[in-house]
Amino acid sequence: MNALITGANKGIGRAVAEQLAGLGMTVLLGARDAGRGSAAVAAIRAGGGDAHAVTLDVTDGASIAAAAGWIESRFGHLDVLVNNAGITGSGQISPADAHDQVPSSVDLDMVRSVFETNVFGVIAVTNAMLPLLRRSPAPRIVNVSSAAGSLTMGSDPQGPLSALLASAAYSPSKTAVNALTVQYAHELRKDGILVNAADPGFVATDINNHTGFLTTAQGAAAVVRLATLGPDGPTAGFFSADAAVPW
Ligand code: NAP
Repeated sequence: MNALITGANKGIGRAVAEQLAGLGMTVLLGARDAGRGSAAVAAIRAGGGDAHAVTLDVTDGASIAAAAGWIESRFGHLDVLVNNAGITGSGQISPADAHDQVPSSVDLDMVRSVFETNVFGVIAVTNAMLPLLRRSPAPRIVNVSSAAGSLTMGSDPQGPLSALLASAAYSPSKTAVNALTVQYAHELRKDGILVNAADPGFVATDINNHTGFLTTAQGAAAVVRLATLGPDGPTAGFFSADAAVPW
């Protein structure tokens, strides 16, 4: 089996790649920078995994098409797609602390750039890879979302997100990822393609200047579980490592 993970040169995506390689999958490690991708691949290979670098910028249609073409010529199919690449729009400031994301004063160009990567990138990569996924006997798509995108949690004045700053960029982008997850699952259910959203938890990575309290290996667990679902696994769901997350 093989798996393409976008934004896999570091952080949660890299840990997902390591864990899927550890399970015996051939890992196609997507990275927008070829050098960073090759370095991560070398590390996984040094650990005994079967990994290959794929240059892939999720905001660049030509890059996505080239990646799909290479996967088709090299492998002929794709079993697992993990849409992991993401940005906050606020550099390494956690969205929870990012004053530049507060709705009433947010820069619309920043919102656009976040949606370009986190939302439109998911559609572009998924649609490019679907013909390859359809050739798999058990295709799985995992969209890496966030509890920050939960409307249920975000609208609870006493809830766990109530102490955080409001966000008009990152959080809505993950809400949109959740909505896309449901819509793709709806379309692809009849074809046996399971599509779910993963909440990795608050993970120490560059995206939050390493303020998260989970390791990347712990954050990858929710993603890996959904990437390896059996035939009776759920679709159109939103899950952390051990529980369903409210939409
Ligand atoms: P990270 O360490 O900053 O990794 C982000 C990855 O996305 C990097 O590989 C980055 O590549 C890549 N990327 C960004 N823009 C890209 C583009 N246009 N095309 C291709 N790759 C691109 O952050 P992370 O925490 O692992 O984040 C991974 C995913 O988890 C994101 O979707 C994030 O929203 C989600 N998430 C994270 C947390 C958390 O607490 N960390 C919580 C919930 C959800 P470069 O190295 O080239 O920049």
